[in-house]
Amino acid sequence: MAHIIDGKAIAKEIREEIKAEVEALEKVGLKPGLAVVIVGEDPASQIYVGSKEKACKAAGILSEVYKLPESAEQSELLELVEKLNKREDIHGILVQLPLPKHMDSEAVIEAIDPSKDVDAFSPVNVGRIMIGQHSLAPCTPAGIIELIKRSGVSISGKRCVVIGRSNIVGKPVAMLLLHESGTVTICHSRTANLQSVTQEADILIAAIGKPKYVTADMVKPGACVIDVGVNRLPDGKVCGDVDFDSVSQVAGYITPVPGGVGPMTISMLLKNTVAAAKDAKV
Ligand code: NAP
Repeated sequence: MAHIIDGKAIAKEIREEIKAEVEALEKVGLKPGLAVVIVGEDPASQIYVGSKEKACKAAGILSEVYKLPESAEQSELLELVEKLNKREDIHGILVQLPLPKHMDSEAVIEAIDPSKDVDAFSPVNVGRIMIGQHSLAPCTPAGIIELIKRSGVSISGKRCVVIGRSNIVGKPVAMLLLHESGTVTICHSRTANLQSVTQEADILIAAIGKPKYVTADMVKPGACVIDVGVNRLPDGKVCGDVDFDSVSQVAGYITPVPGGVGPMTISMLLKNTVAAAKDAKV
């Protein structure tokens, strides 16, 4: 039976470290600040934004939430971003996605000052990650790396296989694994004989969006399996991209869903906000 990586516990440990760091920074006159902007009434987005605000407050980070109506013009949003770019007490800006259809998400993300882009989605930050000169990394991929490292699994020299090539998970996590000296393969829907590739993985990351897609026969015995997927089943329950019951019999380490990668995302957002505040101070 695999060791189950407790994402909740690791995320909590990181939040406590951040809280201590924020207290130390306040003593030298620096209070990290995060502004979150939400447009419209999407219920899931409202929940995410509420959780982010609560986590900031618990860590001692200044938190401001800006709510614009669904009908807001893109120019209104861009003006707000521009104002926040100029604020010295706001070190991180996050525009909650998805934006309403009449807005151009890429243009909005690009309008955020890259040094305040705590989601690290802007082309400038994507480029910095590519060349390994980044202090901000996208939250979910960065959270995956922390989960692996804090579980005592070393990445250096290991065969890492990422299933999924999205800009928000697959590609950036592959790049972060490469910076940790993993030997990385990225798979996707056109990969021929996926099983033969995944069977070689010492570290297997599933970011597909298909319930229980990764089965035990795709996994090398003893592998570290990180399940990024969040899928809702017809009975309303949430499950990952990995068939937990069978894969946990073969893997050495495995993340559950829920309670694995999910809780890490907000912890990494707080970490990025603190990093952005420290960079601004230099
Ligand atoms: P996405 O943009 O839909 O990308 C899915 C990727 O999986 C694509 O690259 C796709 O290949 C690949 N794929 C689909 N079917 C495949 C198959 N049969 N074999 C191999 N590869 C296949 O999804 P995403 O945004 O990366 O998210 C992936 C999952 O992670 C979703 O369940 C999402 O909800 C979850 N997620 C969780 C968090 C979190 O905090 N826990 C954060 C973000 C996302 P092609 O490129 O060829 O189409």
